[in-house]
Amino acid sequence: MTGKPHAAIRSGAANPSPCPACGKRLDSWMGAHLGSDEPPTPEPGDPTVCAYCATILVFADYHCRLRMPTPEETAAMQADHEAWDVLQSFQEFARKRRP
Ligand SMILES: [Zn+2]
Repeated sequence: MTGKPHAAIRSGAANPSPCPACGKRLDSWMGAHLGSDEPPTPEPGDPTVCAYCATILVFADYHCRLRMPTPEETAAMQADHEAWDVLQSFQEFARKRRP
C-alpha cells in the first residue's frame, strides 16, 4: 500500500471493472488523498469502496481493476485510524445512496 487516504476527495474515470463483491460495473473512482503531489490515478494497493455494495476493495493495477483486500491489507487499513475513518465514511455514503 502506498499513499494513505486523507481528507481531500478526488475522482476520475476508470476502465470499467466489475466489483468483485457485487458484480456491478464500476467505471469511475473516488479517492481520498492529501495534497496535489499524489499521482492522478489510484495506485495498486490503494483502498477504495464500491459505490453499490459498500464493500472495501483494493485497486489491483494501474488500470483501476479491483480486487478484494487480503486479510493483511484489511488489518493495515484498520490499524491506520485516520484512513479507516475515511473508508468508513465512504461506506456510509455508499449505503445511503443505495435505493
Ligand atoms: Zn460492489
